[in-house]
Amino acid sequence: MAVIGWIGLGHMGGPMTANLVKAGHSVRGFDLSVEALDAAVAAGVTRATSIQEAVEGADVVFTILPKGEHARAVYFGDEGVFAHADPKTLLVESSTIDIESSQALHDAAAAAGFRLVDAPVSGGITGAENGTLTFMIGGAADAVGDATEYIKPMAANIIPTGGATTGQAAKICNNLMLFISLAATAEGAVLADRLGLDAQVFWDIASVSSGDSWALRTWYPIAGVVPSAAVNRDFAPTFTTDLANKDIGLAVAAAAATDTPLEIGQHVQQLFQRLIDQGHGGKDCSMIVKLVDGTLA
Ligand code: NAD
Repeated sequence: MAVIGWIGLGHMGGPMTANLVKAGHSVRGFDLSVEALDAAVAAGVTRATSIQEAVEGADVVFTILPKGEHARAVYFGDEGVFAHADPKTLLVESSTIDIESSQALHDAAAAAGFRLVDAPVSGGITGAENGTLTFMIGGAADAVGDATEYIKPMAANIIPTGGATTGQAAKICNNLMLFISLAATAEGAVLADRLGLDAQVFWDIASVSSGDSWALRTWYPIAGVVPSAAVNRDFAPTFTTDLANKDIGLAVAAAAATDTPLEIGQHVQQLFQRLIDQGHGGKDCSMIVKLVDGTLA
């Protein structure tokens, strides 16, 4: 069984490491948040008090952090992964980040003799808990192949995407579609209610009809219909509005760089920004429903 260093034990990293522990691996985890670290330790992760302690002597290091700036902070600098890991250690970067930051990590890894893959994930907290995430992996074929072996306990689908940063490209496009679906689901759900439909009846129809989507089945924003949905817990986050806004912003930036008009994506970004401006960035992104039902302006 492998020794795995892990940085970032939040909503995703926590349950992902629990599945690696269940598979028999030894996982050494580090997070700046004491609460996140305590929860991971309770699930069988060994506490590391620094990046150095997590990564030294590991067979593989995973990182899953909020944004590009956090990933850069964790890899670069005197305290970082590149400074303390052995170049034989395989590096798997699973955050959803901008392509420029991902490329910078690939370049620095290659310059220091490391093998690194970009391996963002899809499937949300439920996918992380159930070990059914989709991983999309960019990088050299041998590194992608070796990463796949470590990823298996956390994933239902592991899909190589091509060279460096192509995993991020796939993730950015996927999440653009996800958040547009979420906004569409919120509009359909509120309109169904106003037209006198029972929420469960409408969900039963849409989930087997052409209105179906992952957002509908996992994040349906009307209380009492889908147990995994944050609306049932006062929008305690499974995916924060801040991170959703970050992701759709990555798509909008990539679209600007490639001269691609994203009229709907840009509009959904404005909806998330309105939630953030009203102080709800830390709440679940499915709170977008409140802009449709009129609870928020
Ligand atoms: P999160 O904020 O819950 O967790 C991130 C963790 O990283 C936090 O615990 C934070 O303390 C830690 N961290 C930040 N900087 C650090 C540093 N310098 N050193 C050590 N720890 C540090 O975020 P999350 O929801 O787990 O998402 C993580 C990534 O996965 C994001 O890029 C997100 O877009 C992506 N993602 C999230 C979901 C989801 O449903 N939540 C799904 C797919 C992908």
